[in-house]
Amino acid sequence: MILEKIETTAEAILEKLGIEETPTPIEEVAEALRIRVSKAPSTDFSGMLIRKDGHALIGVNSNEVPVRQRFTIAHELGHYFLHPQKDTFVDFRKGKNEVRTLRERHADMFAAALLMPRHKLLKDFKKIAKDGLTDNTIETLAKQYAVSEDAMRIRLINLSSVVG
Ligand SMILES: [Zn+2]
Repeated sequence: MILEKIETTAEAILEKLGIEETPTPIEEVAEALRIRVSKAPSTDFSGMLIRKDGHALIGVNSNEVPVRQRFTIAHELGHYFLHPQKDTFVDFRKGKNEVRTLRERHADMFAAALLMPRHKLLKDFKKIAKDGLTDNTIETLAKQYAVSEDAMRIRLINLSSVVG
């Protein structure tokens, strides 16, 4: 099943690199995988992945807030691992083309899995949310994992079958 494959692929990368801390040091992950991360301002795109002759480059929009840049790098890594049959991906800024293809949604899920590893997140969630889920819980966890509150909320909803 593709969703399980996405989770286990992300987990295997973190395990192989010996990364256990939060937030996930996403630029170190890219570096360890020999993928160059290049930052530049843009009005049009959030990120891109370019693959050529065995090398890969991730471009990130430096105008966007740090949590967004982290998610973008993780999303492009998702394309790198999940979609080897295509060499160039350009991701436009959110809001421009809201219809997300399956491939884009899978890259987002991979990003979430890499930045918010499910077992670790569920453990932290249970620790923090003993007295129930509040907006404060989301905020605290979002800070801890250096993701946006939206990204944390979506991740927890997607994991809710396990949470509940
Ligand atoms: Zn994408």
